[in-house]
Amino acid sequence: MRSNGGSPVLSLMRPLPSCLEDLGVAAVVVPGTALATELDAMFRSDRGLRAVVVEQSGSFGLLTRDHLDFKLTGRLGYGRALNTKRTAAELLPAASSAMAGDLDLQSAVQAVLERPEYERYQDLLVLSATGPLVVTVSDIFAAVSAEFRHASLHDPLTGLPNRRMLEELCPDLGSSAGTPGIGILFIDLDDFKSVNDTYGHRAGDAALAEFARRLARSVGDRGILMRLGGDEFAVLLTDVDEEAACEVANGILDSLEDHFVLDGCELPISATIGLALGVDITAEDMLAGPEVLLRHADGAMLRAKQEGKRRIGRIGPRHEPAPFARQAHIRRRLPSAVDDSALTLHYQPVLDLATGEYAGVEALLRWNDREIGPVAPDEFIPLAEHTGEIRKIGAWVLDNACAQSRSWIDAGTPRNIAVNVSPVQFADGTLPADIRAALNRHGVPAEMLEIEITEGTAIADVPAVASQLRELIDMGLGVALDDYGSAYSSLAMLRALPLTTLKIDKAFIRDIDSETHTATIIRGLIQTLSALGVRVTAEGVERQEQLDLLRDMGCHTAQGYLIAPPMAPAAFETVMS
Ligand code: C2E
Ligand code: CA
Ligand code: CA
Repeated sequence: MRSNGGSPVLSLMRPLPSCLEDLGVAAVVVPGTALATELDAMFRSDRGLRAVVVEQSGSFGLLTRDHLDFKLTGRLGYGRALNTKRTAAELLPAASSAMAGDLDLQSAVQAVLERPEYERYQDLLVLSATGPLVVTVSDIFAAVSAEFRHASLHDPLTGLPNRRMLEELCPDLGSSAGTPGIGILFIDLDDFKSVNDTYGHRAGDAALAEFARRLARSVGDRGILMRLGGDEFAVLLTDVDEEAACEVANGILDSLEDHFVLDGCELPISATIGLALGVDITAEDMLAGPEVLLRHADGAMLRAKQEGKRRIGRIGPRHEPAPFARQAHIRRRLPSAVDDSALTLHYQPVLDLATGEYAGVEALLRWNDREIGPVAPDEFIPLAEHTGEIRKIGAWVLDNACAQSRSWIDAGTPRNIAVNVSPVQFADGTLPADIRAALNRHGVPAEMLEIEITEGTAIADVPAVASQLRELIDMGLGVALDDYGSAYSSLAMLRALPLTTLKIDKAFIRDIDSETHTATIIRGLIQTLSALGVRVTAEGVERQEQLDLLRDMGCHTAQGYLIAPPMAPAAFETVMS
């Protein structure tokens, strides 16, 4: 693992043979007129010689030791007498075909397997620009299996080792576990999703490849680079202390100073780096191998992101890694949430303040992971948005909410359902079609579904989101702007997006019965929106005073613990019947 040439990692990084001539050994060429006795003498004097190439008026044929032996021994033992007078050209097997030097290895394997069984594993004659070569079949198979191994351990886009390489290195690292020298840098590009969304995936790929080149240049032979997936990279460092590791990390950030130029556009790309050092990990943790260290570095990166991007975060026991290691753990478990059936939807009733009847319910996601236990949506939704996992989860939520709606319709208790949708789900432009498909699948009228959107993740392309919302409204759905008044939901969004409902954040409602100016703002807001035909829902209503005040202000609907908490559908029937 240290930078010696004999390490398994470095040998894996050498250029691999790609075609037959990369494997060939220059052949011993004999003229077609050479006599069998001369050839016999050649093979006897060189035990390592497996075959010679026979040249005859510009063409070549392969004469193997086995073939000559067979000819000279003969089936009845008369071969020697019969064949000693023959020439090399006469002794050549009838059908001996040569292969081209530039034939790629997989095609060569194919060609070998198509040969008749009796000669399938015989050496090959390969014609290259530099002259005839001899290649053994076992070398071809060995090279192809090395090619597969290489492919399984490398990322095709950047050519860097992938995450599996880290596992591959485990045995090596295990021996050095607990020594202070090991460190991992976890590198995550900032807002890379918006590069993909804005410039397209091709440009995104080009940026990742360019980043990999800069990374390689800046790290040099001080560490082993890996692409962990997406926009996440890692550098495994050996023989470093904190200062040396930070120097490498700073070098990486410096290498991003110059903007990336893609298709004539200048892209500012920045990264956030998490650092974890072997010294900081308990000996017990270290036994689990470098994955633990990687998880800590991931946690350090996440914390650094929260503190502002484009920086280096460090995690050690002194830095209370637990919550951040937990975030990394959550990220690792997220992809299995849907497949493990670990997700459920709870439903919170929404009360119509004018009639005192239930107007519908809001679907709220619950995740109970078999390793981590229950994880709150506030904890995992932002991470799922960051990793993109929210697309799959969001599709699951929509499908399930529609299925629930169907079973309530069938039970004779139809209920309007509001579903939370992340801005990330608008990126592909397929959300209206996906929603239409989910409604059709379960036979649910569009009027019974509302989507709630919040600005937790910045909306990169407002016009694109607006046009999809318009399409949904035209289909008959309700569209609500969620968490209004919180940091995430702004007046700008209210103007830019077509809406049917506005949900006032619970932080505002909390103070409505104690702060007069808050009450004044809310009253004005409700009046203005009502005039515009937008319905207003108050969230987080916990006290009767709040409810009374809201009703008096003309607020249309309300939800909160005072009315009912989010509940599993089974608990529902008793409360809402
Ligand atoms: P949200 O959409 O604002 O949902 C309301 C949150 O307030 C829910 O938290 C709910 O349990 C809580 N709540 C309800 N009544 C009261 C109350 O009287 N007082 C207080 N303090 N809280 C109340 P929950 O279920 O933990 O969800 C948190 C957030 O996670 C949601 O906020 C929403 O932004 C997000 N989320 C939940 N489910 C989904 C989902 O399916 N997709 C997406 N993209 N986000 C979701
Ligand atoms: Ca909501
Ligand atoms: Ca909300």
